[in-house]
Amino acid sequence: MGRVIVLFGAPGSGKGTQGEMLEKQFGLPRVSTGDLFRALPDEGAGKEIQELMAHGSLVPDEKVIELLKQELAKSAYENGFILDGFPRTVPQAKALDALLAELNQALEAVVYLDASEAEIKRRLGGRWTCRECNKIYNFRGKPAAECSECGGALYQREDDTPHGIEQRLRTYRQKTAPLINYYQGKGVLRKVAVPDRAQKEDVFKLVLKQLGAGTENKRK
Ligand code: ADP
Ligand code: ZN
Repeated sequence: MGRVIVLFGAPGSGKGTQGEMLEKQFGLPRVSTGDLFRALPDEGAGKEIQELMAHGSLVPDEKVIELLKQELAKSAYENGFILDGFPRTVPQAKALDALLAELNQALEAVVYLDASEAEIKRRLGGRWTCRECNKIYNFRGKPAAECSECGGALYQREDDTPHGIEQRLRTYRQKTAPLINYYQGKGVLRKVAVPDRAQKEDVFKLVLKQLGAGTENKRK
């Protein structure tokens, strides 16, 4: 049995960034349902999903759960994993409980990145993504032309436009925020208050503190 950590928060709260840092720190693979969807082919079911994403709507629970189940069956996840962007609804959380029982894994913690709405809007408006490797950039001013990691072209996701951002926040409040109570009730919620304009390294320290992670967790 390994470690299973969920990164939870509104879009733009920093799940992806903190997830990458945790991945390195703990040597655990990260699973982002958003990345899994973006990797689907542009035709058929993939196209439908991409349209939902572009409008800031959630992909239907059955589809997300099915895709995640397939992914987590891979041996790479035997020793645990970090979930980024899943679960996003109460039915998804219940499906995760069942799936973890099947995989003989237990949920260690749900790290809740609590950022202000002003901060979220500021961040999402400046977000660009690499078309090749999915690396995410946050620009204050003029965006760079290409990815510094792989040279791929950068683009602004349709859901990162002002209208898309409003829609995603509405979806978050309605469908996803109720999970805070769900996980609080289970005693696994670890809330991190994200300060406005915080550096990712400083937020990471708060995340590690919530996970009770000194060097001892590195060895496990
Ligand atoms: P963000 O967290 O910044 O919104 P993601 O890459 O996590 O970015 O998600 C992008 C989109 O993918 C979401 O707006 C939604 O349409 C879809 N999506 C990702 N994860 C889920 C999920 N667990 N359930 C339903 N839809 C999802
Ligand atoms: Zn890239």
